[in-house]
Amino acid sequence: MSETLFGKILSGAIPCHKVYEDERVFAFLDINPLSAGHTLVIPKEPAPTLDALSDESAAALGRALPRICRAVIAVTGVKDYNVIENNGSAAHQAVLHVHFHIIPKPSRDEGLGIGWPARALDPEAGAKIAAKLREKLR
Ligand code: AMP
Repeated sequence: MSETLFGKILSGAIPCHKVYEDERVFAFLDINPLSAGHTLVIPKEPAPTLDALSDESAAALGRALPRICRAVIAVTGVKDYNVIENNGSAAHQAVLHVHFHIIPKPSRDEGLGIGWPARALDPEAGAKIAAKLREKLR
């Protein structure tokens, strides 16, 4: 698979404003922020989507994410924020390398705006899909 934009950032071929690095995780400022402090947190492993990520990278991301969130809150002074991770082009993923956005929400007009077209869960359909998921996850 060809190297993605974020692979090039990891290798240093493309510059970035780095904010964090450990053995498995790297974080840097988004070049088109939705608000000040908008940070991208990526695994060094070049997995395109979250479902393709190894347990080791997932664990490292799980450890680093809250720490980086705390730093973003402390530095921006904004305590409300969204963490979002898009998978696939229909789900708004532009760069095929797993990345978590940490996006401060300083006001109604800044930060992430979300459409959330919720509908009530049909109990029968819900029971069916939950049973299938439990089976798959056993
Ligand atoms: P997504 O739509 O979830 O794939 O998000 C990709 C993100 O990468 C966008 O928010 C872009 O602004 C950001 N981005 C693209 N190129 C760069 C770059 N060179 N440095 C930092 N962030 C970037």
